[in-house]
Parts: sequence; structure tokens; C-alpha cells
Amino acid sequence: MRIFDPHIHMTSRTTDDYARMAAAGVRAVVEPAFWLGQPRTGPGSFTDYFDSLIGWEPYRAAQFGVVHHATIALNPKEANDPRCRPVLDLLPRYLDKDRVVAVGEIGYDSMTPEEDDAFERQLALAVEHDLPALVHTPHRDKAAGTRRTLEVVAASGIAPDRVAVDHLNEVTVEMVRESGCWAGFSIYPETKMSPPRMVEILRRYGLDRMLVNSAADWGVSDPLLTAETGRAMLAAGFTEDDVDRVLWRNPVEFYGQSGRLDLTETAAGEETFEGSSIKRGGS
Ligand SMILES: [Zn+2]
Repeated sequence: MRIFDPHIHMTSRTTDDYARMAAAGVRAVVEPAFWLGQPRTGPGSFTDYFDSLIGWEPYRAAQFGVVHHATIALNPKEANDPRCRPVLDLLPRYLDKDRVVAVGEIGYDSMTPEEDDAFERQLALAVEHDLPALVHTPHRDKAAGTRRTLEVVAASGIAPDRVAVDHLNEVTVEMVRESGCWAGFSIYPETKMSPPRMVEILRRYGLDRMLVNSAADWGVSDPLLTAETGRAMLAAGFTEDDVDRVLWRNPVEFYGQSGRLDLTETAAGEETFEGSSIKRGGS
């Protein structure tokens, strides 16, 4: 089983996770820029983070044979903080970088006017930079939030097949399928979406434009739930080719639209990152 996790926050995970993921078949990941828990107090905190997503983290992933790309954005939650909003003006220079394969995560947290503005501006940036967009849907009031999300996407003029609407469930999948956007599902250990529920959704709606991710971060999450979903698909009668399509070829197709996806195996081991090396324990 080869796995491409299209949404995982490796910054919050350890090297043990990289080792376990590689052993389970994870060969590629996309790490979307997001909220870090502790509120940021200014744009410099974002740029250090963005630099880490396109510099340090791909280096760390390569030590375990995992290819790492990123998506860059002002996340919906911090779009509400006037101290953070100036980062919108700094995004264009990151959206030109080789390892950046989409604008994201953008979308809604609490559906405020500030979030409307940041969402619309960043969809426009995706069009301008010819990049796909990764859109987060709110965990509260998900149906209304997803409906509103799809209206804003439609009004933005971006092609729906260049948009992935993520964190979907049984209630929101249908409207996203009808919109022509890609449907993303985050599999969690305890809540929101499980491997068996995911298998049922794939049975009902098919495999086209479907993305499955672990969304693992610093909360209760598990970077191996993509592999577990693959095993649940096989147990339910899906073929190896079906699993490969959902867990590998679909994310390659979606992010491949950026023209920047480079899945050439990265050489592990010898090189160092600005003088430090994980294997030697340098920090
Ligand atoms: Zn996320």
C-alpha cells in the first residue's frame, strides 16, 4: 500500500511518527499551514513558520524517505486577529515557492466578516498564482458552514475541480459532490469520522475526487489512520487498485494541478540542514 496523506501537520509530530508512517506505506505528505494553538502575535511568527514548512520540515521528512510539500495561507481562526491579518500581504512571495502546492487552509471557523474577507482574498490569490485551494470547513454548524463555503468558492471564479473542501462527513458530502469540488475527509481516532464510516461513504459516492487524510496535529489524532482506512476498504471488498486510487493517485492528481508536485525519491541520511542533523541529534 502506498499512501499520500494530503493533509497532516507534521510540525506537531515526532520522528517516531515519521518512522511509523514510512513503515505503514506513507511516502508523501502535504502539510497545510494552520493555527498553532497558542495565538500568534504578529506576521513574523507566521513567516518563521512558513519558512519551516518549506525548509526544515521537508528535510526532516526526507530522513525517513517521505516527500513533503506544503500549502500556505492565513488560517480562518487567526483571520479574526488584527495583529495577524497583515500576513495576507506577505503570502504572494510564499505562493511562488517550489514546494508550495496550494493555498490553504482557508475557509471558515466562526463565519465572521473578517473570515469572509480573508477567504475571498485568498481564493483570489489561488487564481492569480494558478494554484489549487485547500478549504477547511468549520467543526461547529458544519452544514451551514459548508453551504456558505461553496457559495463563496462559486463566486470567486476558481474552477471547482481545483478546490478541495475538507473535514466532511455524511451530512456535508453530498453538497460538495454536487459542487464539482474535491471532497476531503479527515479520519480521527474517536470523533467526527472513522475508517468504517469512510468506507461507507466511498461505497455510496464512489472514488472520484475523494481525498482521505489523517489531519494529525497536536490534538488527539493518529497519522496511521490513512493506512487503517485502506485496510478497512480491502476488508469491505474494495480492490488494491481502489485503495491505491484513493490513497495515492487522487492526491497526486489534486495537488499535481499546481505543476509543482515532485515525488522523486529524496536521498535520506547524509545531508544536513543549515548545519544541523536529526540523526546526530543536533537542534
Ligand atoms: Zn488541518
